[in-house]
Amino acid sequence: MDRNALVTEIKGVGEKTRQLFAKLNILTIGDLLADYPRDYDNFKEPVKIEKASPGEVCAVYGAVCGIPNEKRVRSLAILNVNVSDGSGILQLTFFNMPFLKKTLKQGGYYIFRGLVRSRGTIKLMEQPGIFSVDQYRAQENQLLPRYGLTKGLTNQMVRKCVRQALSCCEFEPEFYSDGFLAEYGLMPYRDAVETVHFPEDYDALLKARRRLVFDEFFVFIFLMKKNKEFTEQLKNSHKMTETEDTKRFLEQIPFPLTNAQNRVWQEIRDDMGSNYCMNRLVQGDVGSGKTILAVLALLMTAANGYQGALMAPTEVLALQHFETINQYREDYGLSVRPVLLVGAMTAGEKREAYGKIASGEANLIIGTHALIQEKVQYHSLALVVTDEQHRFGVKQREFLAGKGQNPHILVMSATPIPRTLAIILYGDLHISVVDELPANRLPIKNCVVGTVYRSKAYEFIANEVEKGRQAYVICPQVEAEEGEESSLENVVDYTEKLRSALPANVRITYLHGKMRSAEKKKIMGDFVSHAIDVLVSTTVIEVGVNVPNTTVMMVENAERFGLAQLHQLRGRVGRGEYQGYCIFVSTNEKKETMERLRILNKSNDGFYIASEDLKLRGPGELFGVRQSGDFSFRIGDIYTDASVLQQASGAVEALLEEDPALERPDHLLLRQHISNAAVDGVDFRTI
Ligand code: ADP
Ligand code: MG
Repeated sequence: MDRNALVTEIKGVGEKTRQLFAKLNILTIGDLLADYPRDYDNFKEPVKIEKASPGEVCAVYGAVCGIPNEKRVRSLAILNVNVSDGSGILQLTFFNMPFLKKTLKQGGYYIFRGLVRSRGTIKLMEQPGIFSVDQYRAQENQLLPRYGLTKGLTNQMVRKCVRQALSCCEFEPEFYSDGFLAEYGLMPYRDAVETVHFPEDYDALLKARRRLVFDEFFVFIFLMKKNKEFTEQLKNSHKMTETEDTKRFLEQIPFPLTNAQNRVWQEIRDDMGSNYCMNRLVQGDVGSGKTILAVLALLMTAANGYQGALMAPTEVLALQHFETINQYREDYGLSVRPVLLVGAMTAGEKREAYGKIASGEANLIIGTHALIQEKVQYHSLALVVTDEQHRFGVKQREFLAGKGQNPHILVMSATPIPRTLAIILYGDLHISVVDELPANRLPIKNCVVGTVYRSKAYEFIANEVEKGRQAYVICPQVEAEEGEESSLENVVDYTEKLRSALPANVRITYLHGKMRSAEKKKIMGDFVSHAIDVLVSTTVIEVGVNVPNTTVMMVENAERFGLAQLHQLRGRVGRGEYQGYCIFVSTNEKKETMERLRILNKSNDGFYIASEDLKLRGPGELFGVRQSGDFSFRIGDIYTDASVLQQASGAVEALLEEDPALERPDHLLLRQHISNAAVDGVDFRTI
């Protein structure tokens, strides 16, 4: 069966399951096979209760003591029962499973498996799996894949479908030559896909995963180098010189630029006046003052008689920039004529904006990706700044070139990436680093705590709200997922929990990426205008959002996030005149986890944190912590897989030396693979 066949071709997958898969963007069999497990369940040998350590998933073998005790809390039926194995007692809790009262016989022996937690000296497990000894032995020491799920879809179902897909799918032929596989120690493609879903053992899994990570990095770096070849030879058709406008602006603003800002501003000016088009990345920690650099570049562009565009990843952020620039214009009499262009505008409003852009009446255009669409005709576009957003890809460049525009490109990113990795990952850009914060910042106060601290945290939030401030609470999941022992908090249920924990007058709402855009916009707007006090959200608010009245950032399951990402989240508070606070709640109280998180306490420097993160994470810690930000690879993680990244980079260089256009017959399949991947969107340098 073809990889492009629909999932309904799999036996047992009907319309209902198809819809569930579609929610996860899995439409074809190929999509299903590329939906690599997020994690693996490993049924290890049961341990004694006294040895079961809180924060870990364990199995224990014990006898039920006493009769299960049932109580109801609102719509929830809660069943509690103790289990003993002679070494200690474990308290089990089940929700909405009243039938267990009969199944769990007093004195009966079972194996219970789940996440161990502690409350004082008591050890507990919620919703553990229940097994007979035989049932347990049958799956002991196997690595069972766990997939990203949605309500109605269980791991069991996905596993079955993947097994079938593996047995009936025609695989893409191996695209590396034998010599290449041997040189880089890579497992053949088909074996790797099979193994990553159903590994024999941990070693095999590591090898399979490495192959797939290598592929992903390899294709990415290859395309990026091509991008570089293309952009490096672009002649500068908009040579600019510095004018009085920027100088006057710098004299008027109420603060001097930091040394770092001054240095980067010089680099930008040099680029825009040189013989070639600018392709520059400005990397700077949250709050390092990148916006002002964008404004300077845009101002210089306008003063030279050209148009500049500022592109943001969300409408909320675009609107924010539009307002900031209008404010500057009023306060300092800037000679720019800004216009806003976002998807939510009415057809009439858009038409008016298009007109101003085409005639050159507007010389500073601010918006979302709506800025580079068919309908937009620029008069003289000389600069595109993208803020907090994926890089500007070949496709966008070509699109604009097709419309007769060849602008300078300036990319702003707050993702601090260690230098060694940045050289590879941003290989097609010149990098400027704003490595200094303005001097007047109040450092954020941090704490890293276990879940027992929650009630205190809620009191703290209630207190801040009382004072007129606002708070964010971040959860890793959108809604409850099927399956036992999910220890992850989700936005929907958490909001309910929080409503009952906080005083009734505290206005709480949730926000997540799966909501419709109009809904998100409304909620974000309500939060900005302070019609909401506490926003429970996934990491969608991670980028750029600026609500200076917010003083508390509380992150649940902090152990699940990369440090750099947590640092980004932290950057959402402490942006105004008020003291900012960050509460990282970790469910996993293991020593190493707590130590990793405590790095955030030690430093507010994103680059330091990113490099510590890199040091701490080795290939041992494959799953669990994922980085987001600019680089969302399907399976690779730039930190954990830093060495593979370096190897792939070397491999691309060697290949380009040998056969830059991939014309040799033994590179035919590889060429095909890369161009398919580019079409499929692996080239995520799109916007
Ligand atoms: P980011 O780099 O995260 O985009 P912003 O550009 O939003 O940061 O800047 C954060 C705040 O710092 C803004 O209110 C900005 O006006 C202020 N700021 C920028 N540069 C300086 C400076 N040199 N001294 C003092 N404040 C500054
Ligand atoms: Mg910014």
